[in-house]
Amino acid sequence: MTTPLPDCDLLVRADTIITQDEKRRIISNGAVVIKNDIIADIGTYADMESAYAPIERLDMVGKILMPGLVNAHTHLPMTLLRGVADDLPLMRWLEKHIWPVEHQLTEEMLRIGARIGCAELIRTGCTSFLNGYFKEFTTGDEANQAGLRAVLGEGFFSFPSPMFPTAEDCWKTIRELHSKYSSSQLISTAVTPHAVFTVKPGDLEASYHLAKDLGLQWQIHLAESPEETAICLDKYGKRPVQLLADLDLLSPCTTLHHCVDVTSEEIALLSERQVNVVHNPSSNLKLNSGISPVQEMLDAGVVVGLGTDGASSNNQLNMFREMGLAALIGKVRQNDASAVNAQSVLDMATRGSANCLGMSELGQIAIGSPADLIAFDLSSPNMMPVYNPISHLVYASTGHEVCMTMVGGKILYLYGNYWTMDIKALHYDALRAKEWVVSVAKK
Ligand SMILES: [Zn+2]
Repeated sequence: MTTPLPDCDLLVRADTIITQDEKRRIISNGAVVIKNDIIADIGTYADMESAYAPIERLDMVGKILMPGLVNAHTHLPMTLLRGVADDLPLMRWLEKHIWPVEHQLTEEMLRIGARIGCAELIRTGCTSFLNGYFKEFTTGDEANQAGLRAVLGEGFFSFPSPMFPTAEDCWKTIRELHSKYSSSQLISTAVTPHAVFTVKPGDLEASYHLAKDLGLQWQIHLAESPEETAICLDKYGKRPVQLLADLDLLSPCTTLHHCVDVTSEEIALLSERQVNVVHNPSSNLKLNSGISPVQEMLDAGVVVGLGTDGASSNNQLNMFREMGLAALIGKVRQNDASAVNAQSVLDMATRGSANCLGMSELGQIAIGSPADLIAFDLSSPNMMPVYNPISHLVYASTGHEVCMTMVGGKILYLYGNYWTMDIKALHYDALRAKEWVVSVAKK
């Protein structure tokens, strides 16, 4: 009598599996076994097929299977402001064009913006993201509906915002968000002061302690541009990293967005305190903030993730494009063609970003990790021929080679079709949202 094989929910087969696991294994003709939303096993197709009795199968023949990309910095509803004002420096762009519209955003508009963002992330192979914006329950609900994994950051300033008269008024909302999603498989929370030039030291400290109390990641835009450094020096007599260091706010639960204007001494400090840094190449280039010294940070052992920033300063939420740019500008910054190589960039967009979210189990295909997977099609002309798949992912891809996106074992997108979103309806919503933005921008 033969013993029956253990069952599993799904067996996904692919020509090449880029695991991004500890050893960066690449498995040819492989398969991933999924049970209860989790990766239960991984190996060659022959081994997995003979070891399990899957309920369902997904054949990704001719494709690369890899972990879903992790967008470690975005403001999802800002898709509403994509292209509303370009070609301006950060402060003028924020004060004249972004903040005036943001002050009038309605819940309905936030939901439409978040939905557009979810659709773009799913289409371009991103399975989880770290957000920062207002009324974050809207993004949480939309991401949950779309089936994406999201970390929500309710943003606050020390001056009155459209949501909160003071920073402290935000704590209640953060606690409410935290408890609303406490049993969610997909949605969690982070504490999100905007920046050192908009949030006072006392509020930075109080919010950091709140994050510690709730066991959450504390994220902030930091050292984004030399202009920010000048403001910080003028206000506090210190550069941004030193300000946070002196307030004792640098730790593994700290995630810093941008870090363009950082010195070698500051990089050493970020490494020593095991701080997570998110690189945002498109946004830094578009706002002329500068080029982050990413290779220097990697060499110093800083955890670096990758993010798109909001769609109004990018103007895409496409992590493949972000990977390509990170590799290219990293070489210019170092004056060295070998700097910020393809593997290091893929590491940033997967494992590094996962750490920035405080979820180190993401960004890899490994036993016990959530089944957040994407398949990448190699049949388009820009993928021919293939010598090194990782080179293609970083340098040759457009992001639209993604042909399957899955979160927690659930398919969100397959061969041109969204499984959890109505794209036709979204198109009409976007037209309506545009009319609204144009009408309020004039006021
Ligand atoms: Zn940002």
